Amino acid sequence: MAQEAAMSARKPYRPETRLVHAGTLRSQFGETSEALFLTQGYVYEDAATAEARFKGQDPGYIYSRYGNPTVSMFEARMAALEGAEAARATATGMAAVTLSLMGQLKAGDHVVGAKALFGSCRYVLEEYLPRYGIASTIVDGNDLDAWRRAVRPNTKTFFLETPTNPTLEVIDIAAVAGIAHAAGATLVVDNVFATPLFQSPLTLGADCVVYSATKHIDGQGRCLGGVILGTEEFIGKHIHQFIRQTGPSMSPFNAWVLLKGLETLSVRVRRQTDTAATVAVALAEHPKITRLLYPGRPDHPQAALVQKQMRGGSTLVAFEIAGGKEAAFRFQDALRLIRISNNLGDAKSLITHPATTTHQRLTPQARAELGISDGLVRFSAGLEHPDDICEDIFAALETA
Ligand SMILES: *Cc1c(COP(=O)(O)O)cnc(C)c1O
Repeated sequence: MAQEAAMSARKPYRPETRLVHAGTLRSQFGETSEALFLTQGYVYEDAATAEARFKGQDPGYIYSRYGNPTVSMFEARMAALEGAEAARATATGMAAVTLSLMGQLKAGDHVVGAKALFGSCRYVLEEYLPRYGIASTIVDGNDLDAWRRAVRPNTKTFFLETPTNPTLEVIDIAAVAGIAHAAGATLVVDNVFATPLFQSPLTLGADCVVYSATKHIDGQGRCLGGVILGTEEFIGKHIHQFIRQTGPSMSPFNAWVLLKGLETLSVRVRRQTDTAATVAVALAEHPKITRLLYPGRPDHPQAALVQKQMRGGSTLVAFEIAGGKEAAFRFQDALRLIRISNNLGDAKSLITHPATTTHQRLTPQARAELGISDGLVRFSAGLEHPDDICEDIFAALETA
């Protein structure tokens, strides 16, 4: 197969170009669109080739749990986009998060995480890791002294997400990376909300970046997927064997769907970001909106940091409706176009009420600490016409 994986090394194409071409492996048939290799295993020319491949002396594929051409294309394209040396795809975003931590840690180690995390990420840190003898401390991600104070002699890694779900708070990646490295620890960043287009954690000092490809990378609500990116050394040392031996692998079919998703990622994310910014402007002065959070607006709590570490805003807007849960429910139920769903990054505009869905597991006090009030909703901009979206929101606010 002709390898185009090295193209981005030959000429530093811009991200939009890499999204369409990087990582393509073309078969002898010369297909234009990436081929779907829906195969579990591979046949060998002869017994000696099989032996050589198992010995690592022949670079071909062995078994799709740890290597498949379609999955390789997805990994190579993601690596080229992120500017990472290596990538490994996983079945879901949560598999990527869990592996990025479990792959590095062992019993007796300690991890520090920011408190504003996607629900399941916080569950892994607070409930699962301790079960295997890995202690965790949760800190306010924006309090740099809290990260420093949390460090113990056995601290091995820091974990954060920025912008955060659902309040779109922004954490200083470079500053936290500096504290982690001074403590001899690594930093893992969950970059789902920013997307690879708007934020490059590796450039800011992170050692590992993880994505739920389920969100913007698919972008059309079809497949689950995840990806872990870092240096050859990081992936080789912590991730490759873990996937190979434990099996949280991405299906070739899903890799193919996600590859095709990457081709249109930039067009979709830029359009969705423009729409989200339009919604934020339209809502900012609305009398029924008591709080509005959008990275990219000058009134965002970390506006200067957004300028410093991000290249764009967000496809999401969080806003609080006067009147608490009742008003938020009336508003959601009155929407005609925007659908109620906890998913995000989809072509369809979606709305969710974090206090009763994604964050209902937390105590009222923990929610209050995170700024998740009963009137707060999180809006994910889709690809519909922005005027239709704004009209739907304004009409529903009349009801609330
Ligand atoms: C969705 C999401 C995840 C989990 O991804 P899945 O693909 O649903 O497993 C992790 N982190 C963030 C920030 C997410 O939005």
